[in-house]
Amino acid sequence: MTKIISIKNKMLTVPAIAPAYMAKFQCIGPECQDHCCRKWHVNIDKQHYQYLRNQAPEGLRVLASESIKQNPASKNDASFAVLGFKGDDGTCAMLDERKLCKIHADVGADALPDVCYIYPRSQWRHQGVWRQSAMLSCPEAARLCLTDPQAMALTESAFTSRATVMNDKTSSRPGTADADINAFLINLFQVRDYPFWQRMALMVMCCAEADRLLAEGRAGEITALLDTFSAAILSGECRQWLDPVKPDFAEKVMVAIPLFQKGIGQDIGLQFDTVIKLFALGYGIAEPLDQKKIELSYQAIWHLKLQPFLDEHPYFLENWFLNHFFHTGFPLNYSGALLQGCAPIVVKYTMAMFLLGGMAVAQGEAFDLQQAVWAVQVIEKTFEHNTSFRNHLTLDVAATAQLLNLLAEPADQLPVP
Ligand code: SF4
Repeated sequence: MTKIISIKNKMLTVPAIAPAYMAKFQCIGPECQDHCCRKWHVNIDKQHYQYLRNQAPEGLRVLASESIKQNPASKNDASFAVLGFKGDDGTCAMLDERKLCKIHADVGADALPDVCYIYPRSQWRHQGVWRQSAMLSCPEAARLCLTDPQAMALTESAFTSRATVMNDKTSSRPGTADADINAFLINLFQVRDYPFWQRMALMVMCCAEADRLLAEGRAGEITALLDTFSAAILSGECRQWLDPVKPDFAEKVMVAIPLFQKGIGQDIGLQFDTVIKLFALGYGIAEPLDQKKIELSYQAIWHLKLQPFLDEHPYFLENWFLNHFFHTGFPLNYSGALLQGCAPIVVKYTMAMFLLGGMAVAQGEAFDLQQAVWAVQVIEKTFEHNTSFRNHLTLDVAATAQLLNLLAEPADQLPVP
């Protein structure tokens, strides 16, 4: 191996809180079913770009000059250049035929660009506290997070990382409102006295109320609002708020169907096609679409497949969204209306229910927790890397009632035909 002498990454070791699954996470490299070195637009930071183009061993330099190009639109060192793909399948130009990274193999991990070094981890600090977690677009992180009931138990540890990929998150709202809302959401999503969709609905209601206070210049009352919600959740009083919320199956179908339509996310991940085909098979989806039939199918599938799956694995959705709030710190670093920030979360949930249901029907007895993990991983990966998909998820569905009706699930009894 050629010794690196010209690149130095400043490293920091800090105490942090992290979900338990992080202690087990390790990239599985060539074994990965949907590896991250394919069809992703990878930003290359300036320091590593310059090393790879000018100072790396000759073979790497040649490869880098062919595949890494400066990004004229960049406004910072982190996205100074962009890494290209090779071949029809869009594999990263730096991978060898065994799917091993040539940078890592030839000159070691110090030479990896920051994005490759950090993915899928995320680490940030707010009010002096560091958090470390992982993005569930990585199949191995998703597997660890979603298949273990204890995966989201928070632990205290320390991590060592490049300083360039350690960031601060800031509040957009006055005082401690953002941090308080994030803590409230993390607590709310663990209250199993309420079906999962109701926890989501309470998130929407609380965020709508917080938006109202903020619009009226009453940010100081947000802590009291969160206390009111917490007390009502504990006492069960909030069930009265949830009673009027009824499902809108037509709206649910409108949200889910674009998954099946061309251009919304294809070709991002290796699992995407498999998952979508199973989804379509399970619902018997064909052109022209029969929306009413899909609506009725969803209600039946909810009772026959989804509800039993969620009863058996109560931690599955819980861990997904706990990881989301822990990982994003929402609403930290988010300056829009809170309700608008809830929209992608609600749409992701709605899509996941359709995907899981279709897959469960298509796979029959063979459907298991690992296949459910694929559905989440596909949604997360497509969300991160496909603009049209992301736009769909951030549609202007930020009317409270619309979000609530998207979340509500069928009543306890099967509909009588
Ligand atoms: S997606 Fe995750 S497990 Fe797969 S290659 Fe990338 S980091 Fe490794």
